[in-house]
Order: sequence, then structure tokens, then C-alpha cells
Amino acid sequence: MVTLQHIYEARERIADYIHLTPVFDSKQISNLAGNNLFFKSEHLQKTGSFKIRGAANKVKQEVAGGAKYVTAASSGNHGQAVAYIAQTLGVEATIVVPEDANASKLNAIRAYQGEIEKCGTTSAERLPRARQLAEERGGVFIPPYDDPLIIAGQGTIGLEILEQIDHVDMVVVPVGGGGLISGILTAIKEKKPSVKVIGVEPDTANDTFLSLRQGEIVPIAGTQTIADGLRTSQPGDVTFPILQKYVDDLILVSEEEILQAQTFVLERMKQLIEPSSAVTVAAAMFDKLNSRDKNIACVLSGGNVDVNKWVI
Ligand SMILES: *Cc1c(COP(=O)(O)O)cnc(C)c1O
Repeated sequence: MVTLQHIYEARERIADYIHLTPVFDSKQISNLAGNNLFFKSEHLQKTGSFKIRGAANKVKQEVAGGAKYVTAASSGNHGQAVAYIAQTLGVEATIVVPEDANASKLNAIRAYQGEIEKCGTTSAERLPRARQLAEERGGVFIPPYDDPLIIAGQGTIGLEILEQIDHVDMVVVPVGGGGLISGILTAIKEKKPSVKVIGVEPDTANDTFLSLRQGEIVPIAGTQTIADGLRTSQPGDVTFPILQKYVDDLILVSEEEILQAQTFVLERMKQLIEPSSAVTVAAAMFDKLNSRDKNIACVLSGGNVDVNKWVI
């Protein structure tokens, strides 16, 4: 169970380790979308994504309980976040990454002094290895989303949105494993339930969409999308019931729409966001929110892009 109280506690616990990220607006994108859009800019967060919020909340709590070593299984934003907070709190971290992880992501983990172990190419191989390492060395495995402390950390974004955007009507959130949206849902629905919260997935990684429709967790195979933070194959056991209870809608966007939205944000707003963030802008730009003239917060969840590979 995650409650508003847990999110307030998370906010205090992580305050020294995160930025209060800005909220931008853009007349041009708002006009195009037919709504007043606001962009909660977690691509400018420490480590380049919101993942530091949950990671800081969880790792700090574990360190307070005596942990001296943590592990994670992610070459992406969660791996960077865990390496960063471990270094900041003075504990060791091993990040288990796929054999084919790209160099720029590994360099970011190394820059935070995280130890890297390569293992297989799938999360089914990496996850048990990260858990095993934690067990062998008396440490703690830090999951990417399916954990109450992680969810509560991500939920601090919901509190900030309510404070930073007057009269917000709707919040639009990217959905991977569902930790981000579960935290935001808990904050918003327990504090100001009139605000709608909409999740967005790539149509090629629609596990949460299918699970909500089916009323139970539906795993899918081979999620291929440029939004690499949203490639999870099923919602979590902790996150899914929170979505079922609170989410107003779950909508899908195409790969082409994601790319166009990412490019548009760079051109018009001069902000570099990653495809996983761009799904929320795509939902607004391509008129999928079923709303007009409303104040809508799009969560820009991260900005970690391998610029050497990024060719439009
Ligand atoms: C992890 C991640 C997401 C998805 O978050 P979940 O908690 O897995 O739903 C979205 N965007 C970015 C940039 C991410 O790193």
C-alpha cells in the first residue's frame, strides 16, 4: 500500500538529493493541441530522469537500516539513478547491464563510480543476477518500479505539479512498469481527485493498456519501441492495482508520433527529451486526450539520449 502520507515522507527524505524541476509552457504546442500545455521537466532532473526520486527514497531508507551495498538491473535511467544515489550516500553499487549495453550509458554509470557487471541480453537474465549479487554480499536489490518506496518517491512529482500549475485539469504520464504513474496517481487522487490522470504507452508496448482492458496482468512478448524506458512486458504486482483503482484512461501513440513529438519539442522549445518522455507530448499534439482548452500537465520524464545515434 502506498498513501499520500508515504509521498510526503518521501519528499522530505529525498529533498537534498533532487532538483525542484521547472515547468515550461509553449504557445505553439498549446495552439496545436487546443489545450494549455505545461511541461513538468524531469529531463532536467539530476541524472537526467525522474528515476532518481524513487531510487533516492528507497536507497536512503535502506542505508538508514544499515545497508552498505545495493544492486540494480538496468543499463538505463534506473541504473544511473541507483549508481548516483549510492555514491552520494557513500555505499557501493553494482549495476547489472546487458552484454550489448551502449557505451554512453555505461560511461554514465561509471562516472558515478557504479561497478558494472554484464549479464545476458534480457531482463529475465539480469534481474536474478542482480538479486543474487545483493544476497551474496549482504546488500539490497533496488527494483525499478514495483516497490512502495520507489512509487512514493516518483509520487513527489504529483505534489509538485499541484503546487506549480494553478488550476491543472489533467496530468499526462508515460507508462512503463507503472511506478511513475502509480506515484502520481496516489498523490493526485488522494489530494485533488478532480484532476484527471491519463497514462500513455507506445502502441507497440501496450501491456498496461491490454491488462487494464482484461482486468488482470497480461504479459506481452517482444516490445519493440524507440521509447526504451517503456519497453516493459507487463505492469507490476504493486503498480497494477493502483492503476486499476485510479487511472482515468490509458492511451496509445505510434512510433512515428513519438518521433515527431520529440523533434517538435527540440525545435520549438529547445528542450532535448528522450522518446519515453515524448509520448505525453504526442498524445496532446495528435489530439488523443479528448479535451479542449484545459490546463494539461505533460510529464517529460527524462532526457537521456545517445546524441551520437540520434539522427532525424
Ligand atoms: C523508467 C522511465 C519511464 C517509465 O517509468 P515506469 O515507472 O517504469 O512506468 C518513463 N520515462 C523514462 C524516461 C524512464 O526512464
